[in-house]
Amino acid sequence: MHTLPKRIAVFGAGPIALELGQALARLDVEIFMFGKGGSGAALTDTPVRDALAAALADAFYFDPDANFQDMSLQEGKPTLRFTSPDGRERVEHFDLALAATGRVPDLEPLALENAGIELNDKGVPRFDETTMQCGDSPIFIAGDCDGARPWLHDAARFPDVQAIKRKVPFSIVFCEPQVVIVGASYDALDKQMTVTGEVSFENQGRSRVMRQNRGLLHVYADAKTGRLRGAQGCGPAMEHVGHLLAWALQLELTLDEALKLPFYHPVVEEGLRTALKDVDRKCYEERSETPPELPSAAGC
Ligand SMILES: Cc1cc2nc3c(=O)[nH]c(=O)nc-3n(C[C@H](O)[C@H](O)[C@H](O)COP(=O)(O)OP(=O)(O)OC[C@H]3O[C@@H](n4cnc5c(N)ncnc54)[C@H](O)[C@@H]3O)c2cc1C
Repeated sequence: MHTLPKRIAVFGAGPIALELGQALARLDVEIFMFGKGGSGAALTDTPVRDALAAALADAFYFDPDANFQDMSLQEGKPTLRFTSPDGRERVEHFDLALAATGRVPDLEPLALENAGIELNDKGVPRFDETTMQCGDSPIFIAGDCDGARPWLHDAARFPDVQAIKRKVPFSIVFCEPQVVIVGASYDALDKQMTVTGEVSFENQGRSRVMRQNRGLLHVYADAKTGRLRGAQGCGPAMEHVGHLLAWALQLELTLDEALKLPFYHPVVEEGLRTALKDVDRKCYEERSETPPELPSAAGC
């Protein structure tokens, strides 16, 4: 096909669907994006997910929890009958459908069961997260095939096998607003022990000046220790904010330590400072303690 189609139905609302779907929308292709189960960009923190959905729905048709009655080909065109989020029944015809619904590892042809290593119930080798070694064998696992971190590569060494501290989990989705997920999985956090701080970018100074004032950042901390645990967010410059958070997490900083670090003015990163201050204050409240005096003005 040498010209762009007029209308595409995108199935999936994960990172690939969002990056490709939004790129096509900006090339003037009319996009209808259909997700499943309410998920978007792998975000699991509902208010952050809702903020993303609201921003995307302004740019193209976006339903993170699609409800289809029928799918067919009519005169060669993918045709969908579905109920839109406002409860209307719709029938729409498309030029193409893009399935961005994930990939399944193709491990079967490798016949790993003959390699003398232990496999889990999905046929993926069991391995040590700190060395990436499969049992005591000279087999190591790296990349998407480990099923744990499908976004970056680590190397291993043999025969001088050494345990390493793995980098904090960190992912970015390059849609707009950008999405970042860093640190402990939100679903795995002990909600009784976790305090959430937030910043909305609707009213954040630099984001407003750039007219990119959409999105929400949540940062999570351990109520008892005041140590950062992770974050989920969507908004402007999330790739940079995400790096600051990833570095702070990797260095195991407490909120007080992070808040003593410099923040320039006027930058989007001041939004991160707002979220950190919010969660810091809540941690002290939770412990019925008085917070220490922190530098009041942003500065370099
Ligand atoms: C559209 C898209 C955008 C992405 N964007 C990002 C991003 O922005 N940042 C990021 O960090 N990650 C991103 N990713 C994910 C990233 O591409 C993967 O994490 C990375 O490619 C994984 O590398 P890998 O070597 O494990 O697997 P792959 O890159 O999938 O390579 C596996 C290779 O093994 C070959 N192979 C398969 N079976 C056999 C066999 N039996 N024998 C020999 N060879 C075999 C395949 O042909 C392939 O060449 C993106 C992925 C996609 C699809």
